[in-house]
Amino acid sequence: MNRKILHVDQNCFFASVEMVNNPELRDVPMAVGGDEDKRHGIILAKNRHAAAYGIKTAETIWQARQKCPGLVVVPAHHDQYGYYSEKLFDMYCQYTDRVEPYGMDECWLDLTDIAGAGDPVRVADEIRARVREELHLTCSVGVSFTKIFAKLGSDYKKPDATTLISPENYRAIAWPLPVGDLLFVGRATQRKLEKINIRTIGALAAMSPDYLRDYLGVNGVKLWMSANGTDDSEIANCMYKRMVKSVGNSTTTARDMMNERDVWQTILALSDQVAGRLRKKHLQAQTIQIWARGSDLQGFERQKRLSFRTDRTDEIAKTAMRLFRFNYLWECPVRSLGVRTTQLISSDEERQRSIFDADFRRSGATELETVIDRIRMQHGDLAIRRGVQLECDSKLVENGVLSQSRGGFSSVREPGSRTDLRW
Ligand SMILES: [Mg+2]
Repeated sequence: MNRKILHVDQNCFFASVEMVNNPELRDVPMAVGGDEDKRHGIILAKNRHAAAYGIKTAETIWQARQKCPGLVVVPAHHDQYGYYSEKLFDMYCQYTDRVEPYGMDECWLDLTDIAGAGDPVRVADEIRARVREELHLTCSVGVSFTKIFAKLGSDYKKPDATTLISPENYRAIAWPLPVGDLLFVGRATQRKLEKINIRTIGALAAMSPDYLRDYLGVNGVKLWMSANGTDDSEIANCMYKRMVKSVGNSTTTARDMMNERDVWQTILALSDQVAGRLRKKHLQAQTIQIWARGSDLQGFERQKRLSFRTDRTDEIAKTAMRLFRFNYLWECPVRSLGVRTTQLISSDEERQRSIFDADFRRSGATELETVIDRIRMQHGDLAIRRGVQLECDSKLVENGVLSQSRGGFSSVREPGSRTDLRW
């Protein structure tokens, strides 16, 4: 029986996430870059307008600007990419438990043993539509009977396309392609193959496997099987999950943040989402990090190790706010903020009690957050909000900090509270 394997590859992933968060970037040549202050900053991703100028991933920002002086270079927001990567992964897991990530923006899905999965091309098209509608990103999907051909298929046509490489058509589609397009044919291997006049996948497939074993070792035979569609490598089970090392979120607000109250609202919204994700993953954090960047693009990053561990919004937000106050000098307004939690531990583990932990006092607040989680799960993220957040909701939704919900109108409000950093 033929296997049903999908390979989903997000198109220009980093650049696309930046364009979701800041739609103005859609219409200009734009790239995500490493640290531009340093000469060796490189292009990590670019949009199609930038690609039209011949800008390539991994070239220096300096080189890219020579080709396109008007290029807009934005800094990388890795926690944002991680956030989208997890959302995509969760979506794929709705189709099969065999989902294997390959980097941040690619995954294999194996539908072979899924009863009622139906036509894998139809599933591929559905995933593309959902990625477009739910996350405003685009992806290309390869559908095939091997892992390697599925990957080849996702590269074949971009953006937002499905390519089927079947036992019937693989000779016509795959074999004319350059041998370097095949997964695991690196540049060194490609050069070696070209020396013996193998330039296409078809030429590799036609070789004698014994010859390739002598010439390239055991890897040569694996490549020969890949080219012939006979490799049977499996797709890992997604229950084997990537170790989560940090959970964070960041935003660049539509208007600069002018005072501590603006900053507190943003930190609260970010912390709320981070804490919710920690609880969903049954994790608690021991370290809170914050970074901030002013309108002059200067910034800082600081962290604090806690004497306890937490998955609670108030504790994360207050620690983050304290870090901000100690470190931001207000020479200009704040443009972007990020809150990240690290040194994560499973909350199911036996908690090491410490006298500083004050579990006794904390338990009531933790229960409250659990109830909030449950309400949000049923009625959407905006169904229940802290009073201080209501006034800035629309701004944060606009910036993608909060997701649109199915509605809901109630909020947790402290009546009469007028203190500046209202909770
Ligand atoms: Mg990609």
